[in-house]
Amino acid sequence: MQSISFLDDHYPLKTVISDREDCQSYSEWQDGVSRKSIIEAYLRTPVKRVFYASETHSGSVLAVPDENGGSLAAVEESLILGPPGGYDAMVTSFPGILLCVWTADCIPVFLYDIAKHAAAIAHCGWRGICNGIVGNTLKVMARRFGSSPENILAAFGPGICGDCYEVGGELIRAFSARFSREELGELFRPKENGKYLLDLRQAIVTELIEAGAEFSNIFDTGICSYESESFASCRRDGRSIPCRQTLSGIVLL
Ligand SMILES: [Zn+2]
Repeated sequence: MQSISFLDDHYPLKTVISDREDCQSYSEWQDGVSRKSIIEAYLRTPVKRVFYASETHSGSVLAVPDENGGSLAAVEESLILGPPGGYDAMVTSFPGILLCVWTADCIPVFLYDIAKHAAAIAHCGWRGICNGIVGNTLKVMARRFGSSPENILAAFGPGICGDCYEVGGELIRAFSARFSREELGELFRPKENGKYLLDLRQAIVTELIEAGAEFSNIFDTGICSYESESFASCRRDGRSIPCRQTLSGIVLL
């Protein structure tokens, strides 16, 4: 496991990113209750409750309803942006609530509002980005906590990089609803085989800037999940069950 020192070293919060070794070295890793204890031991902080995004590549955001994490019913009611049926980002201002996403090439995005002491995590693949997951997360933070985008720090965990993510031209059409022609030119680089290389991180940066975030508040771990064997990659290894994927989590202190 590792943390994002850009956030953890300067602010009252903790982040965690799991790697392949965590899946292999803990026989209890598959069980949610024991996984929570393993993460608590690593973070050296108690966790009241863990939330995992349901991850349907939606643009929906869950606001954790109360300081204990809320009942399941309350959680469902607090789906305040996007259609019901799933959510790909979560926000909270309550300490001790660990918000997690599983990824295997999609980009986990950690968000923290330094003024309001609120945190979020978003699972960002191309579909979620096209569904507005990045901007929606900032909108929910603004509604719930009064967050201003210029106070939000963003950090990218392991995900596939713009040199490795080959996609078909049909994605350009999907992206053209949200991105200008000029932006599309930055996101998609044509290859000789008629395919394109898509830079998901650049797409997220563009969305964050468009929502009002500052470029200097965006940090990238720079880890490519496809190139680094330590992290799960759907493109490299095929699909795997969530607990074999990379866990990214954020908890407020
Ligand atoms: Zn790469």
